[in-house]
Amino acid sequence: TEELLRRTEKLSVVGELAAGFAHEIRNPLTTVKGFLQLIGLEAKEKNQEYITIMLNEIDRLEMITNEFMVVAKPQATKYEMEDLQIMTESVIKFLQPQSILNNTEMKTVVHGKLAEVYCDKHQLRQVLINIYKNAMEAMPSGGVITTELAIYGNNISIAITDEGVGIPDELIPKLGEPFYSLKEKGTGLGLMVSKKIIESHEGELLINSKPNIGTTMTIVIPIKSKKELCQT
Ligand code: ADP
Ligand code: MG
Repeated sequence: TEELLRRTEKLSVVGELAAGFAHEIRNPLTTVKGFLQLIGLEAKEKNQEYITIMLNEIDRLEMITNEFMVVAKPQATKYEMEDLQIMTESVIKFLQPQSILNNTEMKTVVHGKLAEVYCDKHQLRQVLINIYKNAMEAMPSGGVITTELAIYGNNISIAITDEGVGIPDELIPKLGEPFYSLKEKGTGLGLMVSKKIIESHEGELLINSKPNIGTTMTIVIPIKSKKELCQT
């Protein structure tokens, strides 16, 4: 356990640093991109080609930094009592343009009456966005993504199921390793960041998948009592 603790701590420091870097990299990147686009307007043929290559590479850098901070800015974490149903519905709304483009239907099922949980809203939104993005990317010709919210023991669970390509059993343990991606244009950072965030909430990410049938990613976040909250 000591080793595990050390590793978790290392990962959280690395994650925090990375989110900070991502933020610092993004602004200069936007400037460079803007001026490149301007130069592109008057460039000759050969240079046009080079500029296109540079812009594509900048897009890739942007993708990598976005994965760290879709919404979460590297500000101090702020834990508050939040309603995960409202949060999930708001993220689904935020992703609506993408889901329409991707021909994806987003369904939500709520089992029973949920409790609020103590969490950082921006961070959990990022987890949801990363998981929904993966679900859509797993269904290139569209499909249904079902979100089920329920009380699960002393936790709230959010199970997100897609009808996508699925993941072979032997690869599941590798998911969440930094830069592990099976996609041509993937970053392999989405699940790493998501797991880190969920672990900092003392929760868990469960992965269930069957190739060619689909994948369920279940986010489990503990419901804490008032007494426990006073101690933290
Ligand atoms: P990326 O999406 O950039 O590849 P992630 O960390 O988000 O990186 O995901 C890592 C890998 O996990 C993906 O490349 C993909 O192979 C697999 N994966 C994640 N979510 C799903 C899913 N819903 N269906 C199928 N494969 C998935
Ligand atoms: Mg991803």
